[in-house]
Amino acid sequence: MTSWVNFAEIRQKVSLEQVITNFYGITTLKRDGTKMIGPCPVHQGDNPRAFHADLEKNAWHCFSKCGKGGNQLDFVAAKEGISIREAALKLQAFFLKEKESAPSDSHSPSRPGKKIPTTETEPRIETVESSPPETKKVARNPILKLELQLKSDHPHLLQDRGLDQSTVEHFGVGYCSRGILRGTIAIPIHDEDGNLVAYVGRNLKPQVIREQGKYKLPKGFHKDIVLFNFHRTKEVLRKDGVILLEGFFAVMKLHAIGLENVVACMGSDLSDAQAELLTYAKEVIVLFDGDDAGRNGSVSAMKKLEERNVIARVAHLPEGTKPDDLSPRLLRWLVNGLQGLDLAEVRFETGKTEVGRHG
Ligand SMILES: [Zn+2]
Repeated sequence: MTSWVNFAEIRQKVSLEQVITNFYGITTLKRDGTKMIGPCPVHQGDNPRAFHADLEKNAWHCFSKCGKGGNQLDFVAAKEGISIREAALKLQAFFLKEKESAPSDSHSPSRPGKKIPTTETEPRIETVESSPPETKKVARNPILKLELQLKSDHPHLLQDRGLDQSTVEHFGVGYCSRGILRGTIAIPIHDEDGNLVAYVGRNLKPQVIREQGKYKLPKGFHKDIVLFNFHRTKEVLRKDGVILLEGFFAVMKLHAIGLENVVACMGSDLSDAQAELLTYAKEVIVLFDGDDAGRNGSVSAMKKLEERNVIARVAHLPEGTKPDDLSPRLLRWLVNGLQGLDLAEVRFETGKTEVGRHG
């Protein structure tokens, strides 16, 4: 089981200001209206104009050495050198579970606009740090220490899939000639922080596919807590949103035509943990395959995203087609159209296109 973290709820209930003043007790920043400016608390520099926080937008940026930025979760993650999930667990433990144990506490995390006096911050942080909130067993994918030597110019990639060499190299995929993935196209999978956690093998021989299926997943790999390509998009998906696909090759194909904010849930089921990762995105376009699994999967994915207050749009493809079958022009039209026209849904059928307004 994955330890439950609701990123959206934490971001909604805990403001950046509360993180800066209550959680960390930082007093070196000067307040200027809805802004806080001062030396960067992340890289601990002394340039008094390095760090800017916009308290209304819950956004911060360092214009000096570390150059980092983001929201309240990113602040904790950057400052502690931990993952966003771990940062969320810390804030959850500090702000959202405290109420039950400390009823006399006067601060109200549900009102982000409230100003909290910096001088009265007690060093409660220590109790949080000495008792990690992860008491439940958290599903993890251990980091791989070994990288496979793969052949990137295999005809399955360049000819059958029509991928160009630079895309193949960007994703680090290639033919594997040794070990348990021998005879497959190996696809490296990274966690949300960019650590290599698995290789998935795409079987090539028809007989092997008949017997074992198309993909070979490593034993013990928790697919449901990872989104393929998430680590490469996490900087931009907050600003520009992201396209959610089913498969690895659809991600590569769309990336190759310039739609770079693409992730895959590796199947047609978006898990709860994967949906949590997507709460980071400004919005999500669900673009699953045009078959029963894809249609059912996109309904369920939309539900999970909407439950988490993520703006989600869905495109239903014609029966028997996959996103990578569509022409680059149609794909771009689809993505720009959904966003530009603020549509919730587009349904392609042979000869006509139906659209549905958001909301
Ligand atoms: Zn900095």
